[in-house]
Amino acid sequence: MKEIYLDNSATTQVFPEVCRLMSKIYEEDYGNPSSMHSKGIIAERYIKSAKDNLSKILKVNAKEILFTSCGTESDNMALIGCAHANIRRGKHLITTKIEHPAILNAMKQLEEEGFKVTYLGTDETGVISLEELKNAIQDDTILVSIMHVNNEIGSVQPIKEAGELIKSINKDIIFHVDAVQSFGKFVLHPKKMNIDLLSVSGHKIHGPKGIGFLYINEKIKIKPIIFGGGQQNGLRSGTENVAGIAGMSLAASMLYDNLEEDVKRLYELKKYFIEEVTKIEDVFVNGLPKAIINSDDSDDPVLLYGAPHVISVSVKDIRSEVMLHSLEESGVFVSAGSACSTHKRVPSATLSSIGLEPKLLESTIRFSLSVHTTKEDIDTAIEKMNEYIPMLRKYIRR
Ligand code: PLP
Repeated sequence: MKEIYLDNSATTQVFPEVCRLMSKIYEEDYGNPSSMHSKGIIAERYIKSAKDNLSKILKVNAKEILFTSCGTESDNMALIGCAHANIRRGKHLITTKIEHPAILNAMKQLEEEGFKVTYLGTDETGVISLEELKNAIQDDTILVSIMHVNNEIGSVQPIKEAGELIKSINKDIIFHVDAVQSFGKFVLHPKKMNIDLLSVSGHKIHGPKGIGFLYINEKIKIKPIIFGGGQQNGLRSGTENVAGIAGMSLAASMLYDNLEEDVKRLYELKKYFIEEVTKIEDVFVNGLPKAIINSDDSDDPVLLYGAPHVISVSVKDIRSEVMLHSLEESGVFVSAGSACSTHKRVPSATLSSIGLEPKLLESTIRFSLSVHTTKEDIDTAIEKMNEYIPMLRKYIRR
């Protein structure tokens, strides 16, 4: 049975070229980058080259790239590191209700330490209001953190406009963007977008797990959250994950080399998927932008479809796990809501924020595409849904 992997927002398949490079590093170039001998120097070269490469993609300085162990660590470092370093300027932080737990739980920790946090809501399309953001900014606001692409519904926040707004009110407010779901899908130039901190994760971009990075504008103050041997200028101690760093950098290059074409194809697939899946009775796609709902004449795919790769689908009367495991029987892998919020059965903050009917909260699955996804994969997924949904509903509906 062919595997059809449509859970790419949870994680992606590592590119074979990345596996080969990492294997060479593990087998041959395995030195510790802090060692003074040639093995150490070779290892250090991989790190330098990755910094150069990633900084070129973002159009920032190489010294502004900090390697971390994952998107979660990048987010934690951004929030906790900045809050601690800037406490004298104020204790107020702003974020949204639909962030990943890596942000929401770091904020909770900061609240326990005495910081005040404002959580911005969203409209039914999963997008924040700039007016609400403006009204939330106070004299003692030190940081605003807004995700670029939401991992559950694929809504895209107006990051550029938010950056302009924040800096026009107070240029010292630090602006963090969780770009874990958008890096590799969008052109991101933090300096042009007023972004001071940007989180990225390796395993969402066909790189390995256990690696991520944080762009840190050299002008802002930040404190470490991990202490030890002083690697990475004392900002993030711990022997660098050389193979992971090199692998993530190669994966990023491979995505950005072909970005325009791949993203165009992903949008075509997303459009096709939405058209086909909504033909099934009582199946709904959540959080689509207003432009598509109102059939506007826009030719901007972001305005029509949000992010190119995430599709949130509610199947009335069928619980997410039941749908997920049925599809799995046919080799189609999807996730229930968001795989990143572990196995806990807490109602999704994102789905609640867009005002999804309570009955549908438990009946939502997420399809997420990647550069590997084909039209045939989508056809099979739709065919299987057409097959299973009426059958499963027979048992549920009286
Ligand atoms: N932020 C967002 C938006 C995510 O989707 C995820 C993971 O799904 C993370 C952060 C955490 O990334 P990681 O799994 O690398 O810790």
